[in-house]
Amino acid sequence: MARTLVTGASGFIAQQLILDLLEQGHAVRGTVRSVAKGDALKAALAPHSARASEIELVEADLEKDTGWADAVAGVDVVHHLASPFPMAVPKDPDELIRPARDGALRVLRAAKAAGVSRVVLTSSGAAVAYGVKGPMPERFTEDDWTDPTHTADCRPYVASKVIAERAAWDWVRGDGQGIELTTVQPVAVFGPIRSAQVKTSVDIVARMLDGRLPLLPNAGIQVVDVRDVSATHIAAMNDPASIGERYIVADEFRWMREMADVLRAAFPERRKIPSRGMPDFLVHALSLVSGDVKTIQSELHKRRILASEKVRKLLGRDLIPTDEALRASAETLIQYGAV
Ligand code: NDP
Repeated sequence: MARTLVTGASGFIAQQLILDLLEQGHAVRGTVRSVAKGDALKAALAPHSARASEIELVEADLEKDTGWADAVAGVDVVHHLASPFPMAVPKDPDELIRPARDGALRVLRAAKAAGVSRVVLTSSGAAVAYGVKGPMPERFTEDDWTDPTHTADCRPYVASKVIAERAAWDWVRGDGQGIELTTVQPVAVFGPIRSAQVKTSVDIVARMLDGRLPLLPNAGIQVVDVRDVSATHIAAMNDPASIGERYIVADEFRWMREMADVLRAAFPERRKIPSRGMPDFLVHALSLVSGDVKTIQSELHKRRILASEKVRKLLGRDLIPTDEALRASAETLIQYGAV
């Protein structure tokens, strides 16, 4: 049994990871930004785990020094997941870059000071496959890095993830020697939500179900199930061979129209699931007034494929199929009354 810390405990992926760690007998401490969030989290996880009341919570903000020493004290492994993940594009990229980068370094420094060597950090496929200047490569691997200076193909969230991951590896190779780091690069994460508060990536599915996305842009994403992201964190924590490695976690790519087809077939009673395409000119026009659409605009007609042989080897199995992940998001969004 390990004593684990999960940062950003209130988040979508963190909730799944906490449940899986508890299920496997580990002790879990989590960081939250407020006590109220911690209470809500315990209440949300209670129906899923008899051990939810054992979760210990510590207040800590990525932008402040306070709390991190208490958070890491006495733990064996840190799972660092906290990072700002807004749907809209902020005016100032530093709103995301600063907390992502400085927060990761705060967590790593606190771990080293407390004598905790093992850290598994959720980075993102965003740190691998963006900032592309020429034609899109056929596929990306763990050897690839996003170029954050090529802003036409690298929005602020993407920049925040690659800059934070780079800063983590650079620090570990310098002042942070002795820290045993693994990073995890999920693509768009779907799968079941564990509480009604979850937003982030599953919001695309919610928008398709409740009619907030009436037309489908010519864009797509590669998908992975949240249960596989959690399993990767735990497999990495248990396998010393993963130290110093990056792991892409990605199943298949789907165009938005294909995602809508899967949802329409599974939930025929949901009449608002879109079937018609959104012309590119409309995406360009709407992106002038909507931060959400601006995110989609830079993805039009792009097919980014990230290879996942390495994580399949780590897990010793195949990944949960993309369409199952999509359906699980939809089922649980409906179950929690989020759509
Ligand atoms: P969520 O937004 O659900 O979780 C993010 C967590 O980070 C929340 O707990 C949030 O706390 C916390 N957080 C944000 N800003 C701060 C801050 N300044 N100080 C402390 N905590 C903060 O997102 P996900 O669960 O989806 O994402 C978790 C991680 O996985 C992130 O690092 C994200 O970049 C990465 N990722 C996610 C993907 C996805 O498709 N979902 C894909 C690839 C990577 P609060 O509740 O207080 O806001």
